Amino acid sequence: MPAPLSADAIVTAPKVLLHDHLDGGLRPATLIDLSGQIGYRALPSTDVGELARWFAGSAYSGSLERYLETFTHTTAVMQTRESLVRVASECAQDLAADGVVYAEVRFAPELHTEQNLTLDQVVQAVLDGFAAGTVAAAEAGHQIRVRALLTAMRHAARSREIAELCIEFRDRAVAGFDIAGAEAGFPPTRHLDAFEYLRRENAHFTIHAGEAFGLPSIWEALQWCGADRLGHGVRIVDDIEVGRDGRAHLGRLAEYVRDKRIPLEMAPTSNVQTGAANSIAEHPIGLLTDLKFRVTVNTDNRLMSGCTMTSEMTALSEAFGYGWDMLQWFTVNAMKSAFLPFDERLTIIEQMIKPGYDRLRRAANVVAPVA
Ligand SMILES: [Zn+2]
Repeated sequence: MPAPLSADAIVTAPKVLLHDHLDGGLRPATLIDLSGQIGYRALPSTDVGELARWFAGSAYSGSLERYLETFTHTTAVMQTRESLVRVASECAQDLAADGVVYAEVRFAPELHTEQNLTLDQVVQAVLDGFAAGTVAAAEAGHQIRVRALLTAMRHAARSREIAELCIEFRDRAVAGFDIAGAEAGFPPTRHLDAFEYLRRENAHFTIHAGEAFGLPSIWEALQWCGADRLGHGVRIVDDIEVGRDGRAHLGRLAEYVRDKRIPLEMAPTSNVQTGAANSIAEHPIGLLTDLKFRVTVNTDNRLMSGCTMTSEMTALSEAFGYGWDMLQWFTVNAMKSAFLPFDERLTIIEQMIKPGYDRLRRAANVVAPVA
């Protein structure tokens, strides 16, 4: 296996992120700061290092209650316009500093209305924050474009309302729709009304499916709901058998996902934490990449997983020996799968991604791939 790429080099590579939760990516220092401002006293620590370790520990604890508690703290401090603008702005700046050139960041507007912000005001605040963060990033020398995905909670009953919000804001940097939350017991078909509405409006959506739960969840998301992308989709490997000869045999659903180039929004570290994979090296991303599924690499929750796009790609390079060609492949896959007009996707691929990886290959004295 070739020597893995260094994080120092990977951070300079252009990257594309399709699956990142706004309330899962706060800076620990900001969380402490905002808690102090609003008198929120339930944080497990007010020391930056300790708090960061507590979040990471909770993610690895194997306890769903403890993992969900982490989001109680982050959403608690995201209930005013000022705090939402700040968190969104810092998100854009942090991603830009990590070398991300295009991102779709998701959040559930209904989780930010405890202090009487309307859903519209929540969305507007986050979009204003992304815009401010993009300007600040440019001043620091990093070019990024950040768009929003609006998430509805699968156990709640507001999906149609959130879907309508997506359409209302579609020309103002809202890229699409998503549903998230516990998969078991809450199939995506509970929200058919929202999905059918979005399809009639020619809108895009992704669905968290096939993370902890199996093939039926993926099948429903695609064949009943019409999802454009799968949030995680890891369990699609349950429909793939690798024989003794090393050859893979795909079931009908896996074949459909590959044939239709359905994007898989994979987040290796997060999947290891939730138990969807035992380790990065054993993560199905290796097999699915070998089989040329439309694999993309994502962070999911940067705070809870203590990760960045750079750390995820570094871990993949270490585990599977991926070099610049493969990291470019993941990045182009993600850009092709973005909820952004086709011509704009092409422009980012041709003007930012390909030149960026060409430069890195040249620096490493590697010849560019033919295709
Ligand atoms: Zn997620």
